[in-house]
This record gives sequence, C-alpha cells and structure tokens, in this order.
Amino acid sequence: MEPRPWYTYILLSSDGHYVVSHTEDLERVEKNPRDGIPPGEVGMGAASYQLVFVEPARNKPAAVFREAQIRRLPGAKFRALIETRPYRRPDPEPEVPAPKAPPQAERRVWTREDVARLQAELTEYCHASTFEEQVIGRISGVLEQMRSAYRQQADLFDAAQIEQLKLWGHRMDLLTRFLELVEDFDLISDRADFNDAVTELKEIQSEFAGMKLEQRIAREMRALQQQLPRIQAQTRNKGLAAIERQAPKCKNNHPMTLRQGPDNWFWGCSKFPNCRETQELSEEQQIQLAQLNG
Ligand SMILES: [Zn+2]
Repeated sequence: MEPRPWYTYILLSSDGHYVVSHTEDLERVEKNPRDGIPPGEVGMGAASYQLVFVEPARNKPAAVFREAQIRRLPGAKFRALIETRPYRRPDPEPEVPAPKAPPQAERRVWTREDVARLQAELTEYCHASTFEEQVIGRISGVLEQMRSAYRQQADLFDAAQIEQLKLWGHRMDLLTRFLELVEDFDLISDRADFNDAVTELKEIQSEFAGMKLEQRIAREMRALQQQLPRIQAQTRNKGLAAIERQAPKCKNNHPMTLRQGPDNWFWGCSKFPNCRETQELSEEQQIQLAQLNG
C-alpha cells in the first residue's frame, strides 16, 4: 500500500494573518480550516480562516521541512507563493475565485508584551521535553512573528532580544539541516558520507548543549551509529565492484573474476573448473583491496 502523503498548507484569517502548518488529514482542514490551526499558535482571535495554499509532501519530515522553509520566506516571496499557486478545493462545486487582494499579513500592532510573550514561548519550546518535528515548526513560527514585529517596530526590542533573534535564526538553520540529515540516514552508503554526517551532527549538537533538544540530536546520532555495519558493508561491496570492473581476460579469452585464496586475492577464470587460468592482482588493485579490508 502506498503511504499516505502529508501536506504543508497555509491558512489566511479574516483579520489578515497567515498560519503555516502541516497535516496528514487534509480533508479535515479543508472541511474546517480552523481545525488546521496548530495548538499554541498565537493570535487566533480571527472570525474565520480559509485555506489558501496546499502542497503535498512525500512524508512527515518533508512536510515539516517545507513548513519551516515557507515560514522563513520573506513577506513578498511568501505572498508570491500563494498568489502563483492559490489553493482551490478539488471538488465539482463552482470555482471559488481566490481573494483579489489578500489583506496585509503584517498590519497588526505589536506591543512589548507581545514580544515578551513570544520570547517566553521560544524559551518554552527549546526546553520542550519532546522533540517532535512540530516543535521546530512552532519555534520557526514564533521566530517569524518576532521578525515581523521587529520589521515594524524595532524599538520594542532591546539589544539582548535582537541578539536572541539572530541566534535563533542561526539555530533554525541548524535544526532544518538536522531534519534533512536525519531524513537521509537511510541513503548513506559510504563511509566518508557517514563521517561527514557525524561531524555535522556533532556541530549541531554542540549548539544546543544543555537543552532538551540536544537529547534528540544525540538519539539520532546513536541511530546513525547503528547503521554503521550496513554502511561499512556497502562501502566494501562498492569497492569490490570497482575492482571487479577491472577484471582481465584469461589466456583463453574468458572473463576473470576476483577470488580469495588462503593467503591472498587473485583473478581466477570465470569458467573454473573447466579453465584453471589465474593471474595476480596488479599492485594498485592490491592496494585498493587492502584499503577496503583495512
Ligand atoms: Zn579461462
């Protein structure tokens, strides 16, 4: 059975702010867009919401990743995304035209209390005891609101809050990269790629030292370590195949193949035992082989 797709979507409220989230149950959000507002999303006082953008994703991490990407789009690009691909319900009802001029998303008035509340939320999320992908989405959402507030009323922010905003922008990049890495664990088939992934994970982990988020990163690192035997075997098989492609022909013009003797590897005729020709490996092939087994 095909796995069900996930969706990244955008809601537009009647008072003009956007909500970006992801779901497996698009039908539910289509029926009642208000159900698509994630718990903890701030500024939910609007009278109604409509779905304005939907994009399928192949699985949950991909949907979460896309959500984080969309949240970080600058305002103009964000609106362009919706305008170029406005969402219409795929049903036979008469087509509902997309809203002509979506209200400005950034017209709300921010206060110091808003900023303090967002800051508190950020702290809460980064110490959340679970690290479901949703936490990243929430952090990203809070950051986007803080940026929006900053763009309009920079005077509400003190120096420390501005630094925090920058720091968390950087951390979001790392978390997004982290999700990307985790999603690709199964695709790693090379020892060198494995080493690169471990190095990158360690760097990411050190940025979150002491936070709950660090534990999730450490957990994924262990999961990756468990894949090491598979990765080593695949690296070795790839190396053997590369040497095998250099196989010579025997004196009788049969293709030869790698064989392992009691002391060494050699080329043996593929027609063995009818043809008993053998050849030594070249020095270079011996070095390649030694590296695989080393
Ligand atoms: Zn032969």
